Amino acid sequence: MHLADFRRLPVAAPFIALMPQWDFLSFLVERSRRFPGFGLMMNAKVTGLLTEADRIAGVEVETPDGPREVRSRLVVVADGRGSTTRAAAGLTVQDLGAPMDVLWMRLSRRPEDLPEAPLGRLSAGRMFIAVPREGYFQCGYVAAKGSFDAIKAAGIEAFRHEVALASPTVADRVDELRSFDDVHLLTVTVDRLSQWSKPGLLCIGDAAHAMSPIGGVGINLAIQDAIAAANHLHDAFDSDDAVLDRHAAAVQARREPAVKAIQAIQLVVQKRVIGQILAAKVVKLPPVLKLFDWLPVLRRLPARVIGMGFRMERVRSPERLTKRQA
Ligand SMILES: Cc1cc2nc3c(=O)[nH]c(=O)nc-3n(C[C@H](O)[C@H](O)[C@H](O)COP(=O)(O)OP(=O)(O)OC[C@H]3O[C@@H](n4cnc5c(N)ncnc54)[C@H](O)[C@@H]3O)c2cc1C
Repeated sequence: MHLADFRRLPVAAPFIALMPQWDFLSFLVERSRRFPGFGLMMNAKVTGLLTEADRIAGVEVETPDGPREVRSRLVVVADGRGSTTRAAAGLTVQDLGAPMDVLWMRLSRRPEDLPEAPLGRLSAGRMFIAVPREGYFQCGYVAAKGSFDAIKAAGIEAFRHEVALASPTVADRVDELRSFDDVHLLTVTVDRLSQWSKPGLLCIGDAAHAMSPIGGVGINLAIQDAIAAANHLHDAFDSDDAVLDRHAAAVQARREPAVKAIQAIQLVVQKRVIGQILAAKVVKLPPVLKLFDWLPVLRRLPARVIGMGFRMERVRSPERLTKRQA
């Protein structure tokens, strides 16, 4: 079943690029080094917040050379779905629930594998994705939330059998899973903060709103948040703290409606499709999905939601303007 067609999106790159996260992060670091004010500390873990006169004034950091303090007029928190910094800031999290977790594993990719093998596969009680990478498939077995302990208790042989049933593409190589050390649990969380900011601090990305993996849009939203934050904040540092905080709060006002809309769609798919398949052990897709096979033009709608979201962001920072003017 084809659900989305990206080819007609009105953007410069009308396709999805799949890349390992470390390559993408290295790319971002390389581009960021062009900015004279950019600094990067690796192996530096934020362990706490500095507070001064009811304002967040920076972070405490653990580094290989010992503890350090990094002071800042505004701390932008982007430490992901398990954010300890947002917890330290005392911000309230609304847990929206997810019926599944994902078990990730690598299985080899062979020259004889069909290049057009489907990315995802549904069968009674099972969901599986196999993302082709160089020399291997990055595989995800979708399991009912909290079931990993029971899966482990049943033993690796039983799990290999499950994987083989879930995906004919990799059925002949499940022996590559030697033990559960080769299987990594990714806990799926969908949540969002009631308030993304407080004096001296702003949360963006998964730290502000952990997204379900459905649609693979978490990175899009995290980047859109970062662009919106840059657009709202770049000239606010010349003003006093009250103005800076107001600009930081404006990022939530700009981004939250788009985040809520995507999460609402993800929650419906989780409940109506994934939860049903995992619980009922039957594949019962909503009949309306058949329309996407019959009317290809409909596939543009999911492509737009996945590829562009509900609110596009464009960089308005001075560097961008300078480049354009040049
Ligand atoms: C199973 C699964 C599959 C997914 N698949 C996709 C997909 O295909 N496409 C997609 O777009 N999204 C996907 N997502 C979602 C996506 O990973 C996130 O939405 C996205 O990475 C959020 O970006 P972020 O920068 O906010 O957080 P993250 O990418 O999580 O980055 C947070 C960073 O902060 C660091 N950090 C954490 N704590 C500290 C600390 N105390 N001090 C210093 N640093 C810290 C972490 O090491 C990490 O580098 C998936 C998520 C899951 C769970």
